[in-house]
Amino acid sequence: MRKWVSHDIDLCIGCNRCMEACPVTKKHITIADLNMATEPETEVPQNIIDFSFNCVQCGRCVPVCPAGARRDYMVLFIKYKLRAQKPGKYDKYIQIKDQDKRGFELMKQKLYTTYMKLKHRDLRQYMGSVPSENKEILFYPGCYINSPEVIRRTMKLLNFVGTPYNILGGLNTCCGIPHLLIGEFELAEKNMDLLHAKINRSTPKIVITGCAECFEALVRIKAKHKTEYDILTVTEFLLTHRDKFPKVRLRPNITLHDSCRITRRYNRGEAPRKAIEMFSKLVEMENSREKTLCCYYWNMGHDGANDKNRKKRLNEARGKSKTLACDCITCYEKYVGLDDGIEVIDILELFEEALDKEGGAR
Ligand code: SF4
Ligand code: SF4
Repeated sequence: MRKWVSHDIDLCIGCNRCMEACPVTKKHITIADLNMATEPETEVPQNIIDFSFNCVQCGRCVPVCPAGARRDYMVLFIKYKLRAQKPGKYDKYIQIKDQDKRGFELMKQKLYTTYMKLKHRDLRQYMGSVPSENKEILFYPGCYINSPEVIRRTMKLLNFVGTPYNILGGLNTCCGIPHLLIGEFELAEKNMDLLHAKINRSTPKIVITGCAECFEALVRIKAKHKTEYDILTVTEFLLTHRDKFPKVRLRPNITLHDSCRITRRYNRGEAPRKAIEMFSKLVEMENSREKTLCCYYWNMGHDGANDKNRKKRLNEARGKSKTLACDCITCYEKYVGLDDGIEVIDILELFEEALDKEGGAR
């Protein structure tokens, strides 16, 4: 990372396009100061500390750079430099995801686990156990196992499709990407290695997930450990069985919120578009594909403008359609219920509605 950022600082021609594309709050930052603060051994001034903790690692600054520099990684390196002075909200997140809790914290975690297992009895077997039986598909919701509505919907659709699958949940575990986005590289590596070991117990052919961060973790694990399984989003997997779903029209039109990671970073934005076209007509927003805006989750609430930015995004969507579909669970959960003027849906709801309209999940 040190070599990488030094190389990118050398590439930078100071055009400021990265900062013009950047959607988070920043005050009085020059590229020269930003590049200086990115150098491994320099001090970081307060305005750049504030900006760095506002950065959501969305990557919107990357495609606009004429020199091919990765401003997102440069800011991530500043977060790494500042990891000892993380804001409380970042620290809290790390503590929630800590897998080596002791004493009172461990007791609190156990109480939470018991509560969730009692509350969602149908999902309790997936909340902490690691599947070992070999099945073709491994559905990895990770910590989103605590979003029961989304998990039940996904299971209903997988059951309909009929391919045998395991579920690897993790009420108190993490894929490692949140740690990475916070600048805790060692913890990120540790969590991804743990996840790799868990996946290996059931040797799946395809691992699927509905979370953009889990998707990135799986891609990184595959690259590091040269695993043989394929990685698909849940939408991509369902599209491989598209002929099984009823052909019904569910909305006059729908617009799509692209995820920073699935669409911009990995260029996998075609599946949600095809899914929308199965049941409706897609209307694109101006800020779509590589120009997409963030759900503003990954600064952990540090930027006071997060809600205002989300509402602005919903406003843009409302100008195109009465319905906004999200392909990533994090995006969906950050946008749903924020504005009464637009319906925000998890894209899997379209598949589910189509089944329900044709008489249930059969
Ligand atoms: S990753 Fe996103 S938030 Fe961070 S500097 Fe780039 S555009 Fe700004
Ligand atoms: S867009 Fe690229 S070249 Fe221009 S200031 Fe940002 S990093 Fe430097």
